[in-house]
Amino acid sequence: MSVPPIHIGAALLGHLDVQTTRGYVAVFDEDVIAHYTEFLDRRRAMRPPAEYRLPTGEEWSDFQEHFDKRKVELGSCGRPYGTPCAHERACIRCPMLSINRKMLPRLDELEADVLARRQRAVDKGWRGEVEGLDLTLRFLRSKRAQGHRTARMGRVDLGMPTLPRQQVGSRRPTG
Ligand code: SF4
Repeated sequence: MSVPPIHIGAALLGHLDVQTTRGYVAVFDEDVIAHYTEFLDRRRAMRPPAEYRLPTGEEWSDFQEHFDKRKVELGSCGRPYGTPCAHERACIRCPMLSINRKMLPRLDELEADVLARRQRAVDKGWRGEVEGLDLTLRFLRSKRAQGHRTARMGRVDLGMPTLPRQQVGSRRPTG
């Protein structure tokens, strides 16, 4: 099994410090990966062969659509395939949101709006509202820092999964 150079692995995993990657490498060495692969092979052999089929055209479209549905105003939502939004679309507070760096100026606009609302809440004595807005500001600023970090590092495009067209909808021989 070939392993990429550690600095490439660090870039792929988004680690700022290569020592972080070293930690993973120390744990997930080739021996561990080989044992895990054997474990997967054993488990797969125990599952009904019917489960190992290629997706139908409909299933594949649904899977691709999932990526479109994850596009939100500020970036992309990282929730797993087949799961609904579990955070009531409060994307700015959500750990699943990955900021699109092009939307960084939009975060500044949102911040100005939240600050104005906070000032009004202070003036009116709405302390509960102030607490909520302070929380939103914390998340917003943390997302902005994340967006700037990503912009500095450049984007690592892992690509969209593809399946040869002629295979979609047909069954793979089993046995
Ligand atoms: S709130 Fe979170 S899970 Fe829901 S759409 Fe926004 S980023 Fe995705």
